[in-house]
Amino acid sequence: MSYKYINELLNLPEIQIVNIETNENHARIEVTPIDHTQDCPYCHSTSVHRNGIPYKRDVRHLAAFGRTVHLSIPAICLACKNCGSTFTWEYSFVEPKKRYTKAFSAYLASRTYGTTVTQTSMEEQVPYSTMERIFKGDLRRKSEEVHEKAYQEAVERKNLVLGIDDFAIRKGHTYNTGLHDLKGGRFLDIISGRTGEELQDYATNHTMFKLLNPVAVVMDLAKAYHTFCKEWFPEAIRIADRFHVNRYVTEALQDVRRLVQKDLSSQARKQLKSKSRLLNKRADDLTEEECRIVQECLGYDVRLATTYNWKENFITWYDCAPNAKIARVWFERWYKEGKSMELDVVNECLKTMANWKEEIINYHRLRYTNAAVEGRNNRIKALQRRLYFTRNQAIYKERIIVECNRELA
Ligand SMILES: [Zn+2]
Repeated sequence: MSYKYINELLNLPEIQIVNIETNENHARIEVTPIDHTQDCPYCHSTSVHRNGIPYKRDVRHLAAFGRTVHLSIPAICLACKNCGSTFTWEYSFVEPKKRYTKAFSAYLASRTYGTTVTQTSMEEQVPYSTMERIFKGDLRRKSEEVHEKAYQEAVERKNLVLGIDDFAIRKGHTYNTGLHDLKGGRFLDIISGRTGEELQDYATNHTMFKLLNPVAVVMDLAKAYHTFCKEWFPEAIRIADRFHVNRYVTEALQDVRRLVQKDLSSQARKQLKSKSRLLNKRADDLTEEECRIVQECLGYDVRLATTYNWKENFITWYDCAPNAKIARVWFERWYKEGKSMELDVVNECLKTMANWKEEIINYHRLRYTNAAVEGRNNRIKALQRRLYFTRNQAIYKERIIVECNRELA
């Protein structure tokens, strides 16, 4: 293989290869700049002369031909004839004093997304501390970039729809709030905490946030979120997230299941308990076999059967109401249906439904849900599992922003 071809492979046009030594796993490539001198960095004069090469630098570069690659690059001393300054040759592909080329550092950093620093450091045979420094630097830069891009897009987006949802950093520990651009599919930011005070604190200290102008915001039924949105986006439609709302209904159904279970024979009780999750599933998603089991379960008690129908009717309401006006009429009908069952646990659920009626019906003005957000929350959970020992909150947040907006990174 000619040196010229190898040089193209290395993709470092400013240098040429002088010598190559290889063994089974490693390649040491001696290089030298193509130009004879470099312009003075102080006065920009071209009148510069070389003052010798006191030592050579060993710099790691991207692997090639199945081997790790180390470049041996001369530290060339130069002197300016115009201003008298002395300086060392500057290579565009490696920063002064660094032991890795920029391309190799970037490669290491990109490998670490989706895995851990420990893993990359082992696989690439790079010391952990070096790997960590490279990754943190890259992460900081990238998260700032991604965050700004995502926010800018959201500010400019026509008919912006925001999603607000909480997620636990570690289960049962601190909660954070995720702010999402649902139309753009972007994770905009992480707000520390989820109380009204914490949200206010974020909004007042965040210039970009004040520029957002959403037509709608999708949220669960947390009062703090609604109060916050009413204040900052008074024009926006507040939509109760469909899947959160539906959970109240399925929970009521499970409460009824527990209630009727008590009066059953031990065998029927066991059967009902073990198949309880099937009751939550949409009837039209059940397999034939599951459908048979559900019918059997519903046969145990008429209260369970009526509550199940009421749950299914709510899904139909979500799926089929053609507009907000009709949705309101149907909602009232569904509400009365629930009331007529005269079950305390159902009444408890209906109380919540009545409190949030407008926000629930608003789904039929703009059919957005936080479903994508839930998917992203799962990505965060996977990340948490991998980074269980990460105590540094700043890095943790930076990483979520980058990994949840991979398309922008
Ligand atoms: Zn000079």
